[in-house]
Amino acid sequence: MSATTAVQTDKPLPFVRFITRSYAQLVLVAFALVPAYLIGYLHFFQNPALKFENHPFHEIAIAGATFEGLFVTYVTWQCYRSSGEPLLRWMTLGFLGFVLIYALHGAFTGLAHQNIWLFLLYGPASRLTMSILLLIGLLSYHRPPDPADRRAGARYLLSWAAILLVVNVLVALLAYSTVAGVVLLRVMEAAALIFSMLNVAILMLRRPRSPLMLVYGISIMSFALSSVAFLLGSPWNHMWWLAHVIFASGFFLLSYGVVQAFLTTRSFATIYSREELNARLAQEMDRTKNALKELHRTNQKLAHLAATDPLTGAANRRHFIACLETEVIRAQRDGTPFSLLALDLDNFKWVNDAYGHQVGDTVLQGFVRACLDAMRPYDGVARVGGEEFMVLLTRTSLDAALAIGERIRAATASTTFAGEIGRKVSITVSIGISQFGRDGRTSDALLRAADQRLYHAKSQGRNRVSTV
Ligand code: GH3
Ligand code: MG
Ligand code: MG
Repeated sequence: MSATTAVQTDKPLPFVRFITRSYAQLVLVAFALVPAYLIGYLHFFQNPALKFENHPFHEIAIAGATFEGLFVTYVTWQCYRSSGEPLLRWMTLGFLGFVLIYALHGAFTGLAHQNIWLFLLYGPASRLTMSILLLIGLLSYHRPPDPADRRAGARYLLSWAAILLVVNVLVALLAYSTVAGVVLLRVMEAAALIFSMLNVAILMLRRPRSPLMLVYGISIMSFALSSVAFLLGSPWNHMWWLAHVIFASGFFLLSYGVVQAFLTTRSFATIYSREELNARLAQEMDRTKNALKELHRTNQKLAHLAATDPLTGAANRRHFIACLETEVIRAQRDGTPFSLLALDLDNFKWVNDAYGHQVGDTVLQGFVRACLDAMRPYDGVARVGGEEFMVLLTRTSLDAALAIGERIRAATASTTFAGEIGRKVSITVSIGISQFGRDGRTSDALLRAADQRLYHAKSQGRNRVSTV
């Protein structure tokens, strides 16, 4: 109960809800545009001629990005293998493409003064390749998962790696060709920007519900803004370095999303927002509560069935013995005696012979009812044999038990039990009584004494109660 209230909060007023939701969306957009403020600042307030040309720093940063990219590629691949989502397959290829191409941008840093295009072109080439592959992935977002047995294997990845190496060769050929130059560099960067913006536009149009897609969207926005910064910058100046940082922050954020998927559902589409999780949790808790109630009811039913004689509804022998043991322990502790009644219907075999077994059954049922009517409501009757019964009278002395036994005997003798239509059956019962203390302090001794007195009542002519 308290657990349920922990996830259920009061519903806010609709307009308050609207305002808070709108605020949250505005904050997200403002957050996604943080790189744009930095770009604006550098563009308008800094000198673009200022440069920081440091080859080792560039090489180390890109080596780090390559290792991180390989790790993210692996994690994304594992998510895809598990969920089969086509988006995750394309994301894996996107990251792989980025890593394999971008690594050369780092590797050729030292050649910046020999062939600047060989050094520079791999940057936009890696971003362009990744943005194209991610766009294909986004377009396949609503596609059903790849079937488990047809999920692409390592060969698929290797053949894509081969294609990406061909792209690397093509970029090298371009770098040594006559088309190499600022225009080509900018065209490639602009293409990367366009594909990233297409990604963002499709996301805004389709608005997928998964919160990871929000992470995806903000990351792609960073990729787009990094392309803007690369377009505005020139090699080694501050805008150019900022462009690297913006791209890296987008990549970190997207890798965070991938890791979240890996640690939860391994899917980008079927991961729930906190609101949804709260609602689902409340729903599941209700279901669990109901299931527990149902289980409790079933257990009670089972316990009742296990303790009851199905024909008469009286307690069965096992239940009776358990009650007797408990009562013995109680009486041994506090000394208040209790009494036992052993009852056996007289000449019952004759009832069966004369009226049939079915009538006998009806009589057994009627006898239990008559017994209960003649007793205090809290003392039960147990059927311990065919037409043998026992009554446990808690905190009752022999005298009081004798009175109750006598009541049962008289009630039985005066009752006519309905047999077949129009036929009335009369029976009598013999009863033996024992009392805790007087006849022993163990259940065995008390049962034996009650049986002996029952036998005595039978031998004295039946239809009587015996305490000796
Ligand atoms: P007594 O007065 O000496 O107890 O005579 P009795 O005929 O009652 O004694 P006995 O123990 O020989 O017979 C018990 C009869 O109870 C035998 C059996 O047919 C009958 N009986 C036992 N269980 C059931 C039952 O579930 N249904 C019916 N209809 N009869 C039963
Ligand atoms: Mg008998
Ligand atoms: Mg009998």
